[in-house]
Amino acid sequence: MVRAERREARAGTLYIVATPIGNLEDITLRALRVLAEVDLIAAEDTRHTRKLLNHFEITTPCRSYYREREAQRSEELLARLTAGESVALVSDAGTPGIADPGAMLVSRAREAGFTVVPIPGPSALTTLLSVAGQTEPAHLFLGFLPAKAAERRRLLQDLRPEPRPLIFYESPRRLLSSLADCLAVLGRRRVLVGRELTKIHEEFRAGELEAILAEFKARPTLKGEFVVLLAGPDQSEPRPSAGPGEPGDNIEELAAWYRDQGGLSLKDAARRIALDLDRPRSEIYRLLLECW
Ligand code: SAM
Repeated sequence: MVRAERREARAGTLYIVATPIGNLEDITLRALRVLAEVDLIAAEDTRHTRKLLNHFEITTPCRSYYREREAQRSEELLARLTAGESVALVSDAGTPGIADPGAMLVSRAREAGFTVVPIPGPSALTTLLSVAGQTEPAHLFLGFLPAKAAERRRLLQDLRPEPRPLIFYESPRRLLSSLADCLAVLGRRRVLVGRELTKIHEEFRAGELEAILAEFKARPTLKGEFVVLLAGPDQSEPRPSAGPGEPGDNIEELAAWYRDQGGLSLKDAARRIALDLDRPRSEIYRLLLECW
């Protein structure tokens, strides 16, 4: 454990502390100092955080702070700040507030006039981006894609015209369906998938979305944590559009695109097109029978 030469933690101050996403050596000296000095650590899962603290011989008391209890716990923590205590917020891994609880506590603390201090460090988002070799100046971070297939496809549908690369978190359970939906809705894209970043089994797979999806599909099991970076659309790539009319309202063209680019069956294509055009699936199915 690093000995603090000066105290950093100040009374009535909330610290938002990033912790490692795998490799414990990625914790910063400042994070260690703050975690050791504050009066209380609010943690998404206290058992998980206790392991980190034990590793660095930090004995600061912990209190749980998780999404389902965010409102109540925020009030309790504000009371501690009001009493003049210093509090650090950590999540299970990475930076609190990035696809993790924390936003409510931060905004309430700031509204109440407390100082909120970021202690920056690892995040799966910046970790993958740092090795992506992305030359575009911007990207769009989506957090997790919606778990429900219809919502996920609707979101991807809305993102079809988006020129920036998309980056999102994914669980092993949903990786294949999310990548398949990306392929079906967004078409051909380059992709970089990071798995188990900073951990023993760290892995990167880069290539055409279709090929990477096939590769993950062929694995007997999918384990670990994933971050996915999808390149923006290739402007030279033909995309479904009705030509001079409204883009994407030509059923024949959409059908051909979903069949040839997305590899969908007639039934799946009917479902997607019905979603795209907001028309009954049975009606689309009947029309597709004529042009498939
Ligand atoms: N706040 C965290 C951050 O700053 O990265 C993210 C928390 S979010 C609940 C957890 C998701 O982040 C995982 O499901 C995974 O998609 C991604 N993630 C976290 N650690 C990762 C790692 N070591 N490798 C790959 N993805 C990771």
